[in-house]
Amino acid sequence: MKKNDWIELDIDDLGTDGQGIGHKDGAAVFVDGALPGERVRAKVIALKKNYVVGKLEEILSASPMRVKPPCRVFGKCGGCSLQHLSYAAQLQFKQNFVRNCIQRIGKLELPVNFPLPARNEYRYRNKAAFPVQKNGEQIDIGFYAAHSHRLIDVDDCRIQPSALRIVMSQLRVWLVKNKVSIYDESTHTGLLRHIVLRENKAGELMLILCINGEDIPNKAHLIMLFEFVLPQVKSIILSFNTKRTNTIMGGRSVCIYGKDYLFETLCGLEFRIGPQTFLQVNSAQTEALYNTLLRMLALTKADTVLDLYCGAGTISLAAARRAKRVIGIELVEEAVENAKFNAKLNGIENAIFFAGDTARLLPSVLEREAVSTVIVDPPRKGLDEAVVRALAASGVPKIGYVSCNPSTLARDLALFSELGYSAGVVQPVDMFPQTTHVECVVVLSCKN
Ligand code: SAH
Repeated sequence: MKKNDWIELDIDDLGTDGQGIGHKDGAAVFVDGALPGERVRAKVIALKKNYVVGKLEEILSASPMRVKPPCRVFGKCGGCSLQHLSYAAQLQFKQNFVRNCIQRIGKLELPVNFPLPARNEYRYRNKAAFPVQKNGEQIDIGFYAAHSHRLIDVDDCRIQPSALRIVMSQLRVWLVKNKVSIYDESTHTGLLRHIVLRENKAGELMLILCINGEDIPNKAHLIMLFEFVLPQVKSIILSFNTKRTNTIMGGRSVCIYGKDYLFETLCGLEFRIGPQTFLQVNSAQTEALYNTLLRMLALTKADTVLDLYCGAGTISLAAARRAKRVIGIELVEEAVENAKFNAKLNGIENAIFFAGDTARLLPSVLEREAVSTVIVDPPRKGLDEAVVRALAASGVPKIGYVSCNPSTLARDLALFSELGYSAGVVQPVDMFPQTTHVECVVVLSCKN
């Protein structure tokens, strides 16, 4: 094969980013947009050391699992990569992907259940964050194209709240009428950097404008555009971010309309959501995830639970109602403040929270407390080896592992297995339809 060759091939697998994979002359060929079971014609666009990249030119025979993507920027935007695959087949792909990770990376034979499907295949996210850029005379608000900082202008996004369309159009009116300047990252000038929209299950909205400055022009006009057209907007906030950084929100913020928070109900508990509060992005599936975990852990009032990487204490508080006591540990101080506030809000008195690095705080907590169950919900990089070793050394009877990355989950399960823990069934939970991401829950027990 040479660059610019036209090739025909059968696609037999999907890669981790949703690309179709076929084989030609002994090499794996990655073709974006092609699906397993399809025969396609592709143009060779890159020859790498271990694989070839092909550009899809024609589908010669289509998979019965192929569906028409509803989004007009599908294939351009770096967001959803599976919109062309039926939802049932997406779930099947996720189950296979988790199974492969467990077998290939973890070298373990564990049962992997079919993923718990999401209630909503679209409109499931509770938070959208869009960069804003000037494009000639036009203002682009949208998402970055895959692997780039090039902005794709959108007026809607099917996985975001349905109010997004109106929010975008009203914002554009305000931006144009008031000649609001747009941030330019190369010169670090201009005002508006990002727009963030948060929604609770009741449909109430918080709009956050992230600005490189201290104020915005014509606030009254902005407020009027939302107050009458979109009364669900309960909060408009300015977040001051004047640093040269990729971070979206600044440290300080001020509320210019309504309240500076929303409430969200999860597993029957109330949570106060500020502009910076961390919350899983799919509220309906978060409840499914937490309920699955708690059911698999079968907590009783005799259990002392340690919730590591506890964020705003959502899992901790749901567990506290079933356990004797819960101790939460979380790196971000503000999240810990949220957790403490939410405990009070719900009248929960058997939960305490500490801010700090898990690896650093864990040994002393394990020494002080008679922990019977540990819950871990780490970021994508998984658990530090020191954390796995400290947990195994403590001999804690049960560990509930919530993971957003099957590869690091498999790696960590392998180490736990070496250190005397056996894992039960792996339950994937689909929090992110149309993307290749998948969350998993698994419970480990100490073998002796
Ligand atoms: N369990 C929570 C949050 C999970 S996200 C929920 O369901 O909402 C992972 C969390 O781990 C984030 O809040 C992140 O701030 C935190 N974190 C990352 N590294 C950490 C560390 N070394 N020690 C403690 N917490 C950490």
